[in-house]
Order: sequence, then C-alpha cells, then structure tokens
Amino acid sequence: KNKVLDECSREIVPSYDWFQTPDSVTVVIYTKQKDMNSELVIADVQECKLRGEIIVKDYSYLIHVELSYAVYEDMIVQVSEKVGKVEFVLKKKENLSWKKLGQPLESHNSFVKCTDRGLYYRKCKLLSKTNVSHDTRLFCVGLPPGTHLQVPVGHHLYLRQTITGTEIVKPYTPVTPCLVSPLKIPISNDKAHIFFMIKIYPGGLFTPVLDTLQIGDYISLSNPEGNFRKSQIEDVEDLFLLAGGTGFTPMVKLLSYALTHSATLRAVKMMFFNKTEDDILWKSQLEQLALNDTRFDIQFVLSEPKKEWTGKQGKISSSLLSEFVKRSKHDCKMLICICGPLPFMEQGIQFLQALGHSGNEIHCFTT
Ligand code: FAD
Ligand code: NAD
Repeated sequence: KNKVLDECSREIVPSYDWFQTPDSVTVVIYTKQKDMNSELVIADVQECKLRGEIIVKDYSYLIHVELSYAVYEDMIVQVSEKVGKVEFVLKKKENLSWKKLGQPLESHNSFVKCTDRGLYYRKCKLLSKTNVSHDTRLFCVGLPPGTHLQVPVGHHLYLRQTITGTEIVKPYTPVTPCLVSPLKIPISNDKAHIFFMIKIYPGGLFTPVLDTLQIGDYISLSNPEGNFRKSQIEDVEDLFLLAGGTGFTPMVKLLSYALTHSATLRAVKMMFFNKTEDDILWKSQLEQLALNDTRFDIQFVLSEPKKEWTGKQGKISSSLLSEFVKRSKHDCKMLICICGPLPFMEQGIQFLQALGHSGNEIHCFTT
C-alpha cells in the first residue's frame, strides 16, 4: 500500500521556477493539480524571507528561501485553479537585477505528508475583544501584511502563548464576526482579520492568560488544519448540527457556507446544548437567522435551566436525537455534524449509530 502511495505522491510532486521584472520577482509553483484553490496556499513574506506552503491532497509542498534582496510585504498571491499554478508576486524594494532567488532555508522545495510538516506560526496583533456572553469573548486578530492565509470551513488553527516560560498551544476554530448582517450584504469576506469565539475558564491554563491580552498585543497563530471537506455537504439535502457549548464555533462558518453555497439544501436544523440560558452563544442572532431563512431551524436544550425555561431540557439523549434527526424527504442525503465536550460527542455518536445512521452521515469535529 505504501509503495502505491509513494508512486502517487511522486507523480504529483510540484516544482517551482522564478522570473523577474525591474520591480518585481515572481515565484511560480506548478502543482499539477486541477482543483487548486486559494485556501490551499499559505504564504508569509517578511523583508528577506519567503515561506510558501501549498497543500496538495494529503501532502505539503514548501518554498522556503532567504531572498537575495529585500521585498515589500504586500505580496500578491495568484492561483490559477484549473491549471494548478500558484504565483507569489513580490515587489522589490530596490530595482536591482537578482542573480538568484536566494538561499534555501529549512525544508525548501520539499514535499512531505501534511502530518510530517511542523506547524508554522506567525505573530498576529489583537485588534479587538468583545463580550459574547458572561464567559465567552469574540477576539479579532489581524494577520501581518505579508501573510496569505484563509481558514477553510470546519478547520481550526492553533494559538500559542508562552506561559510561565513554557510554550502552550491550544486549537481554536475561527468564526465569522456575525451570523446575520443587518445590511444583508455577504458576511465579512475580509481576509486580513480572523475572529475567534473563546470561552474563558477561570481555572484553565491557556484562556485566562489569553484574556489578559491588551489590544495591540501579539499572539502566535498557526496554519489551519482539519478533517472537514466542503464536498461533504455538496449534494446534501438535510443538514443537522449538534453543538454543545463552544462546540458551536465550527457550526458558524458551516451554517453560513451551507445556506449560501449549497444548491440542494432544503433544511438546516441545529440543536444547541448548553447548561443555562446565559450560556447560549449568539442566541438572538440564531433566532434572527431562523426568521430570515425558512430552511434554518434552531432548538435550544438546557441541562441546568432556571424554573422559567419553557424550552427543551436535559443532556444529549437517544430520545432527543430520534425526534430531531428526521429526514425531510424519504431517502434524502443528509449529514449530521457534531461538536462539543468529548463525552457529549462520544455519546451523541453512539446514539446516532444506534438509531441507524452510518459513519459517512456523521461528521465529528476534532483535532
Ligand atoms: P484547561 O486548562 O484545558 O481547562 C479547562 C477546564 O477544565 C477548566 O474549567 C479547568 O478548571 C478544568 N480542568 C482542567 N484540568 C482539570 C482536571 N484535571 N480536573 C478537572 N477539571 C480540570 N474553545 C473555544 O472556546 N473556542 C473554540 O473555537 C475552540 N475550538 C476548538 C477546536 C478544537 C479542534 C478543539 C479540540 C478544541 C477547541 N476549543 C475551543 C477548546 C480549546 O482548545 C481549549 O481546550 C479551551 O480553550 C480550554 O483551554 P484552557 O487551557 O484555558 O483550559
Ligand atoms: P459546557 O460545559 O458549557 O457544556 C455544553 C453542553 O454540553 C451542555 O449542555 C452540557 O450539559 C453538555 N455536557 C457537558 N458535559 C457533558 C457530558 N459529560 N455528557 C453529556 N453532555 C455534556 O461546554 P463548554 O465549556 O462550552 O465546552 C465545549 C467543549 O467543546 C470543549 O471541550 C471544547 O474543547 C470543545 N470544542 C471542540 C471543538 C472542535 O472543533 N473539536 C470546537 C470548539 C469547542
């Protein structure tokens, strides 16, 4: 099996070339992939360094060079999707003729399994922090001007902080800044900003330190990763989302993506499990979205409700799921996505399997 894999990977090894004009240098990567897209390219340029990573199936191709001369940070990344060509257009700081692109840095021109490529971090500035609930905040971080990075739907990345002398990393799933735009324009397509919805645990290791960051402070942010593929919802007719607490975060982009991009979609039903009503994230936005789009339905379930709560109660259970996960049409294609505390996900999957749902009808968000 490994031999077959090796042969496949050898066939698709990308290659690169470069050329220049008096004021620019273009690095061209031929990926040999017909379905290249901008989300598969993560690039960072600083002064004299270029690091460009391109994801080709399960592999990562890397361009990593100390450039001959300094360039500006506002690099242009061009992706020719059909021919699989990726170009980094760098603006020279001085109009000199370069004899070579530069010196190779670690792992330059290598093609390895994504899992064997270490995570790369860049420092990002905290631009704003707003409260979503009593313990959860929306953090907005700005990517450096020389970074090209887009986080695919359902993918997460890692934040890194040094806490009492030790580097600590934790995964977080970017969200859009809101679910319903009051102006009815497409929700922020701004690629320079990344939004995170993060719950602060007073006894936690990472989040209390994160919460002390001031606007203008820096935090390290990795390349994205994840096992969700957009193709999983391509021809889905019924989408079910089961979220527990901050397990809501991967559902945010997924929900917006499905409602705007899927031609076959008839219904998106979300069951959102929380302890108390105060814990429900973006409750009014979810209710507003349900009013705006008849395909979307939201149900809240509380495990520790106050007496006044008239909605559903309890923890994830077979009876709640059998009542909720119902096809809108006999035999229609469905996907059930689940995310939340580990035992919540484990139990959810068990119940769904016992109810007869196959593995490819269930997607579980994990690292
Ligand atoms: P931790 O130190 O991990 O502690 C968490 C809680 O457990 C605290 O209340 C702490 O007191 C308690 N605790 C810790 N150790 C023990 C113990 N031994 N016994 C009993 N209790 C204990 N979170 C988000 O808020 N937003 C996201 O978008 C998000 N995305 C994620 C994506 C992925 C793929 C994964 C796997 C997780 C994601 N998380 C997200 C969770 C996040 O990665 C962290 O786990 C979370 O922020 C807690 O970090 P912490 O270090 O502050 O808390
Ligand atoms: P929480 O404690 O507020 O609980 C959320 C819901 O889950 C509540 O309804 C609660 O009753 C239920 N729940 C909690 N423990 C349960 C158990 N043992 N069995 C059944 N139900 C249970 O949750 P939180 O503090 O917001 O934590 C969210 C979790 O989601 C974290 O563990 C985080 O790591 C995870 N998460 C994962 C991803 C991912 O992509 N994998 C993304 C975001 C969050």
